Amino acid sequence: MAGLVVVAISSCTPKTDSGPADVRVVKDDRESNLLSANFEYMDLSVDPSVDFYQYANGAWLKNNPVPQSETRYGSFNEVQDNNNAILKEILEAARKEGQAKGSTAQLLGDFYHSCLDTVQRNAAGMSVVADLIQQNHGFKNKQELSKHLAMLHLQGYSVLFGAYVEQDLKNNTRHALYLGQAGLGLPNRDYYFRDDEHYQHIRKEYQEHISRSFELAGEKGNQEGIFNLETSLAEHSMGPVELRDIAAQYNEYSLADLEKLTPSIDWKLYFTTLGTTVPDTVIVGQPAFFTNLNKVIGTEYSESLRNYLDWQVIEGSSGFLTTAMEREHFIFYGKTIRGQKQMKEDWKRAIDVINRSALDEALGKAFVEKAFSPEAREKVYRMVDDLMAAFKDRIEKLEWMTEGTRKAALDKLARFTRKLGYPDKWTDYSSLSISRNSYASNVLACRVFSRKKNLAYLGKPIDREKWEMPPHIVNAYYNPLLNEIVFPAGILQPPFFDSKAEDAVNYARMGAVIGHEFTHGFDDQGAQFMADGTFNNWWQEQDLIQFQSRTQRLVNQYNRFQPIPGVFVNGKLTLGENIADFGGLTVAYYAFKRTLKGKESQMVNGFTPEQRFFIAFAQIWKSNATEQALRHQVDTDPHSPAKFRVNGSLSNMPEFFQAFGIKDGTPMRQPEEEIAVIW
Ligand SMILES: [Zn+2]
Repeated sequence: MAGLVVVAISSCTPKTDSGPADVRVVKDDRESNLLSANFEYMDLSVDPSVDFYQYANGAWLKNNPVPQSETRYGSFNEVQDNNNAILKEILEAARKEGQAKGSTAQLLGDFYHSCLDTVQRNAAGMSVVADLIQQNHGFKNKQELSKHLAMLHLQGYSVLFGAYVEQDLKNNTRHALYLGQAGLGLPNRDYYFRDDEHYQHIRKEYQEHISRSFELAGEKGNQEGIFNLETSLAEHSMGPVELRDIAAQYNEYSLADLEKLTPSIDWKLYFTTLGTTVPDTVIVGQPAFFTNLNKVIGTEYSESLRNYLDWQVIEGSSGFLTTAMEREHFIFYGKTIRGQKQMKEDWKRAIDVINRSALDEALGKAFVEKAFSPEAREKVYRMVDDLMAAFKDRIEKLEWMTEGTRKAALDKLARFTRKLGYPDKWTDYSSLSISRNSYASNVLACRVFSRKKNLAYLGKPIDREKWEMPPHIVNAYYNPLLNEIVFPAGILQPPFFDSKAEDAVNYARMGAVIGHEFTHGFDDQGAQFMADGTFNNWWQEQDLIQFQSRTQRLVNQYNRFQPIPGVFVNGKLTLGENIADFGGLTVAYYAFKRTLKGKESQMVNGFTPEQRFFIAFAQIWKSNATEQALRHQVDTDPHSPAKFRVNGSLSNMPEFFQAFGIKDGTPMRQPEEEIAVIW
């Protein structure tokens, strides 16, 4: 289970298109032969004041449909595809027999080999999880149930609820143990209750998926009972918008009070079995959920409860058991939910599995040894300085903010820390054992390793060196608990950052990503954290009112966007990301403007430097998606669909109106009273 508060630039799990370079070269004496925006991606027949995203990307969108094995496709995938080619080389080399036991090559190579060895996987069938299924039918009392749940959680099965350790939101010197809702098979609670045909269809398909999976596993289970039990969990779960309310999820319970909240579980025994110290207090995310848990568990331990546990084990293992089960998992979660037509190639699936496993950092380490550019790191480091200076300048000039809050905001900005490229301290894998012979055992060993690593933080000091993402991933994040921005090596490369490109391009892309992460420190959630990472208000009341009235305008604007006719973006769910997109772009623009000082304005392909900045920005978000993937994104993802990440920000931005002569009353320009300049 992920923490409450870490926010990334993209949820993409992550082809190449370096088109004809000649039209992009900046003919400038001082910056000769630098690449500019990709003008060949544009559709000049579109009016930029009607749909700038289409104007900047129309030709690319037309020529790059979503590949059969993807659900969406854009810049993030292009970079990930390049990275994957490097990762494949690393893994193929490591796969050779005879690597030194315990070495990075042995861990990665044997894991990779076991994943691709489908003969072994199909022969092993259900054997590795047979004991767990048997135990689902064996527990007879509260003590046995509590131990069993802890064993399932240690092995990564998300049954009923979850437990994880994270910095205490209200005390930055210690860790806390958090308990949270979990245990649903559909993407979130809304999928159990929404009435439209789309969700009715998904629910019907889900029950059929349950039934087929039991059959493939050679087990018996009643899909209706399972579905009803999940519906009861869903009924008392928070939805995606509620889950953004941090204060509502910080509920401190003494152990005695926790025993009263959910007496169906022997909590001491549960924590001891997890292998963690028994905490004096825990933070309960959703108390109503934990009250309802008593009803779901009951005292008689119904057949439905035991079936539900079987289901969670079967579904939670399907990816690493037989190829038929892996395919069945794909048919529901890939095809039905997200519109993916074909499975990815096996080596790509193996990389995806490693990226989500405990071995992610081992793979990242091998990646940076092979592919990292210290030159790019150095340049991006300086770019972060530029963005910070531009952000400071913006805060100093904000008209709506009073001095007390301004001082606190500047202090918070000054105390941002940064991590670039890769961790200084790597994970110690000496307690992890991986073999060539059993994929299922390998996956479970990784899960136990990750759970234990997380739980071991309880009672230990805060680890400020820790990374929440491995270095080869094309993404970036802000962590309010450490007030830090983090840019893995995976994203420090073209088209995000290109040492051969002009400033207009690098500031519009990498600059806007950096600005985005800075702004997360000041979005509707980030603004609730102090500079030292504690969840505590630093705003004066009148400024908070101003801030909220401006952010409400963004909520209203995004609520009107329709990625598919009749399907609307959720303005509240996406608010934090929308604030970060808009703020980040503004700050990047001003940082870019500083680079123009003392230079005469150079035209390239008929565009001014400012125009090239906005075109290059829109092009980083070029993306095609299946209809199902768009719906899934709107229902579950705090990031707006790509088109609105571009048009939503730009239609609030006076600097953009000026660059392209965007007139009042056009779609790319919000009416004066709706403009939501925040940062
Ligand atoms: Zn973000």
